[in-house]
Amino acid sequence: MSFFRAEQSADLLKRGFTRRDLGRLATVITAGAALPFYNERALAQLSMVRDMPADAVKINANENPMGPCPEAAEAIHNVVRKGGRYMYEETFTLKDTLAQVCGVKREYVTPYAGSSDPLHRAVLSYCSKERPFVKADPGYEAGERAARFIGAKTVNVALRKGTWNHDVKAMLAAHPSPGIVYVCNPNNPTGTGISLTAVERIVRRAAHAVVLIDEAYYEFCGVTAMRNLLRSPNLFVSRTFSKVYGMAAMRMGCLFSQASNIAYLHKAQSPYSVNSLAALAAKEAVKDTGYVTHYVTEVLAARELLCYGLEKLGIPYTPSSANFVLGHFGARAIEIRDALRGRAILVRDRSYEIPGAVRITVGTREQTQRVLDELSRLW
Ligand code: PLP
Repeated sequence: MSFFRAEQSADLLKRGFTRRDLGRLATVITAGAALPFYNERALAQLSMVRDMPADAVKINANENPMGPCPEAAEAIHNVVRKGGRYMYEETFTLKDTLAQVCGVKREYVTPYAGSSDPLHRAVLSYCSKERPFVKADPGYEAGERAARFIGAKTVNVALRKGTWNHDVKAMLAAHPSPGIVYVCNPNNPTGTGISLTAVERIVRRAAHAVVLIDEAYYEFCGVTAMRNLLRSPNLFVSRTFSKVYGMAAMRMGCLFSQASNIAYLHKAQSPYSVNSLAALAAKEAVKDTGYVTHYVTEVLAARELLCYGLEKLGIPYTPSSANFVLGHFGARAIEIRDALRGRAILVRDRSYEIPGAVRITVGTREQTQRVLDELSRLW
């Protein structure tokens, strides 16, 4: 019996898929795993399952449209049938691999299910009614949820209007005894980054708080606080496999800090929360530095193309250090987002935080050109 209904198959074949593609896609969906099947058509097809056309351009979640590197996908494919067994050792050995790749001691790192998870747990562990969660506004939202749950206040410190840079001084002055000062570098949704000197200043001046630097987009800017871990007992750094490594659905991330902090937070983690298949894939992903370099180079080129195109169209944007760009569309933001959606291009409205702002993830150069072509018709 075929996996797809007859009319689904007919539709997919009409869209340029071969019968072999369909067989592979059926295996992907059935196995629930990433198989060596990561071309854009296939990924667009997966979106189509949720009512998107096959050639949809999904640039609303800062993902890597090419998915994981082939070795990572294959590593999962090769063991998925053994998935009935616990495979704890994959998490232990991933810890070794991450420590080696990042040049820190083994005790300084723990894998998590994504990087929102350690942020959530850190807020639960270090914030309280008396010790609030301090963050830039607008910024990545995940920590606020945990703060709300424990009745801790979130102190939102406005980014500097216009440049959307962090106001370091205001963040430091926001509260006399914060539980966590959270810095997303580069910041989501603005793409603006802060220098290592500014990070060091925060770490030094907020000595009695946890300073958590979220480096989800580190690979696009190269600024990292990782080398300060040894001398900074209050510093935590999080990284994710959801962005540059193309593994968002697999839920893999990690947290770095001094050994006693990592051991303390580990107690707040449920024992088997990290997916062993994702750990296996992550080990392969960090080894394939060529894949990451290639993707980052592509993003930087496509980002240039996007910014140049926006400039030519007279659409203001915020210069970005990440794989997304915030365009400023004024009163037409929602209209533009909806019109792009009607043309199967998904971008992310952020006008509820910054009036007129729409966040555009940098996809492939081809996708970028398509967005620009549509914008030139709409603007
Ligand atoms: N941190 C930042 C700054 C993000 O923008 C995102 C996702 O958009 C995340 C963390 C979430 O990453 P994960 O998928 O690892 O939970």
